[in-house]
Amino acid sequence: MDRKHQSRQRCKKKVKTLKEDYLPKLIQYEIHQSNLNGRNSYAKTDCDATFLRMKDDHMGNGQLKPAYNVQIGTEHQYIINYTFHQQANDMPVLKEHLQSTKAQLAAIGQPMPQRLSSDAGYGSEENYDYIEQEGLENYVKYPGFYQEQKKTRRQDPFRRENLYYNPEQDYFVCPMGQHLAFTHTTIIHSKSGYPSLVRLYQAQRCDNCPLRGQCHDSKTERVIQINPNLQRHKDQARRNLHSLRGRFLRRKRSVEPESVFGQLKWNRKFNRFLLKGMDKVSCEFGILAIAHNLKKMWSAKRKARIVPMGPNLPSNDPVLTENTQINTLKCCFIKTQSLVAA
Ligand code: SF4
Repeated sequence: MDRKHQSRQRCKKKVKTLKEDYLPKLIQYEIHQSNLNGRNSYAKTDCDATFLRMKDDHMGNGQLKPAYNVQIGTEHQYIINYTFHQQANDMPVLKEHLQSTKAQLAAIGQPMPQRLSSDAGYGSEENYDYIEQEGLENYVKYPGFYQEQKKTRRQDPFRRENLYYNPEQDYFVCPMGQHLAFTHTTIIHSKSGYPSLVRLYQAQRCDNCPLRGQCHDSKTERVIQINPNLQRHKDQARRNLHSLRGRFLRRKRSVEPESVFGQLKWNRKFNRFLLKGMDKVSCEFGILAIAHNLKKMWSAKRKARIVPMGPNLPSNDPVLTENTQINTLKCCFIKTQSLVAA
C-alpha cells in the first residue's frame, strides 16, 4: 500500500513537471520554429529580421545585427524595383527579385530588359536556367570569374578545367597521364532544393603518385565532378562578359546599384530602418526609393540632360529619356502604394 502510494506520488510529480515546465517550453519552441521559417536566427525585437554580419563593424568583433537583404534593380541609377529577403545569401533571391520586377514592369505596360548584368554572387545553375527560360541575355558573373583569368590559375595543371578532356571516349587525363574515367551520374540538391545533374569521373590509382600532395587531399583516388548544364551556362556567360557589350555592362554595373546604395547609405545616412516588420520596412524603403528617383530626376532636369522621347530616337540610345524616368517612378510608386494599401 505504501509502495503504491509512493509510486502514485512520483507519477503525479512527473505529470506536474510535464504540464508546468515541458509543455510551455514545447509551445515556445514551436513558436520559435514558426518564426524562424527555415532561417538560423531571428531578432526578438523584429521577428522578420535575421541576424546578419554587417559591413560596418564599429565594434570590430564581427557582431551580428538584425537586418534584411535588400535587392534593387536599377537603370541609369534609378531604382526600378526593390525586394526584401531574409537570407544572407544573394544566390537564392535573384529569381524572386526578377519575378517581382517582371510583374512591376507588366503593371505599367513595359517589357523586361533584354539583358541582365549582376555580380558573381548570383551565378548559380538555378538562376542561369531561369534567365534562359525568360529569354534574357546572360551577363551574370559566376563565382571564380576573375580568379580564372589569373595566370597562376590558368597554368595550374591540376585544376579540373585545365585537365585534357577526350570527348569521344569521355575521359579526362591527369598530369601523370592517368585517365579519369566516367563512373556515374548523381543528382545534387542546392540549399534551395534545386536539383543538379552531376557527372563523376575517377582516377584508377593514385597510390604512390609523387604529385598527389599537389593534386588532391582525398584519401581515395581523385574524383572530379562535372555539371554539364552549369558548364554550358558559364561558357555562355564568359563569352558574353568578354564581348564588347559585356565589358561595357561590367563597367556600368559597378556604378549602377552600388552608387545607389552609396547615395542612400553614405550620402543620406540611411543606415537603419525606423519601422519593424517586413511589410513596414518595405514601405519605408519604397518611399526612400521614390525620393531617390525624384531627386535624380530633378538634378538631371537641372543639368538639362533629359531629352524628350523622339520618334527617331533608337531604343538603346544612352541618353536618358523622360519616359524612362517616369517609368521608374511609376514602378516604385505602384509597388509602395500596394504595400501601404495592404
Ligand atoms: S594523384 Fe592521381 S589524379 Fe593526381 S596526378 Fe597523381 S595519379 Fe593523377
